[in-house]
Amino acid sequence: MSALVLDGLTKRYGSVVAVHGASLRIPHGQFVCLLGPSGCGKTTLLRMIAGLEDPSGGRLVIDDKDITEAPAHLREFGMVFQSLALFPHLTAGENIAYPLRIRGAGKAEQRKRAEELLELVRLPGVADRPVSKLSGGQRQRVAIARALALKPKLFLLDEPLSALDAKLREAMQIELKQLQQRLGITTIVVTHDQREAMTMADLVVVMSQGRIHQAAPPMEVYRQPADAFVADFIGLTNLLDGEVTAPGAVAVPGGQLHLPNLPPSGRVLLSVRPEEVIVHPAGSDGPNRLNGRLSFMRDLGASVEFRIDVAGREIVAVSRPQDRPPVEPGGPLSVEFPPAACVVLPPMAERQP
Ligand code: ATP
Repeated sequence: MSALVLDGLTKRYGSVVAVHGASLRIPHGQFVCLLGPSGCGKTTLLRMIAGLEDPSGGRLVIDDKDITEAPAHLREFGMVFQSLALFPHLTAGENIAYPLRIRGAGKAEQRKRAEELLELVRLPGVADRPVSKLSGGQRQRVAIARALALKPKLFLLDEPLSALDAKLREAMQIELKQLQQRLGITTIVVTHDQREAMTMADLVVVMSQGRIHQAAPPMEVYRQPADAFVADFIGLTNLLDGEVTAPGAVAVPGGQLHLPNLPPSGRVLLSVRPEEVIVHPAGSDGPNRLNGRLSFMRDLGASVEFRIDVAGREIVAVSRPQDRPPVEPGGPLSVEFPPAACVVLPPMAERQP
């Protein structure tokens, strides 16, 4: 049984289609990241799930119950906003207990639960501190604790870590993931940061221009991107235009590659990650190699990055320092594209949407 089903959810603002037919099944206990560039519709999608925005079309179902029309306060979801929306004049404990107070819980129960929740977010002993006296990371934890106060069915967070500095942000990503694993609560986080999504998510939902391009585990999104947008947005990749010339053979700038999974004919786009491209000294023989010239090389300590001109196109390759061939900038070399590393995608013009 799916915990949450999005069935063709659409949101229009006048002529702007912010979310276009989003369909997704989210099983119980998953950590989901809605990932995409600014304006792709991820906040609008989260707000529709939360009940803060009415869909223009489609349905939202939780545990087989249609909640498309249910008001936000009856959905029993916990939400953390980018702004955190804490009450500055209240203490950390009062902020956390606020949802319990409006449900009529007694003072002792409020206090007990606030302390439990502060333990849960690893912030014990600050119940009586005004939130205005807490650091950014501490306030973040208070907002998370408050959203969990009513034991929600679904935990929704909109760019929760974006106000934190890089180091704290990384630490909080790991902490949030561990907290979610301890609680087993289905969680949906909006982020534009692919590293953040890869760190936390069981399921990465990649969006662009209001559409879901792919929803898959992080390594699948990385290794088997559904289209050119996903391949390009997640990490670095080499995109090569190709034309299938014979069964299993594709002509690309600078030569020919032999690959499985090619269509019988027509144009294709190949995506090959830089760490999969193998750099060889010039003149060495082998399958699936193209000749090129080294245009730039940089030593990054743990790895070496090559920029190679192949028939006027730049190919990026990353190797271990010990595998680096003896070549100087401007010198010839050959680059190998192992068949298993080449993801065959539809050509640019035909990609969805
Ligand atoms: P960001 O990361 O910048 O917050 P996002 O991916 O969350 O972007 P949304 O905020 O969901 O994107 O916006 C998607 C599209 O819908 C944008 O083109 C935006 O301008 C438009 N939009 C969002 N809210 C409204 C609104 N209330 N009225 C009109 N247009 C809106």
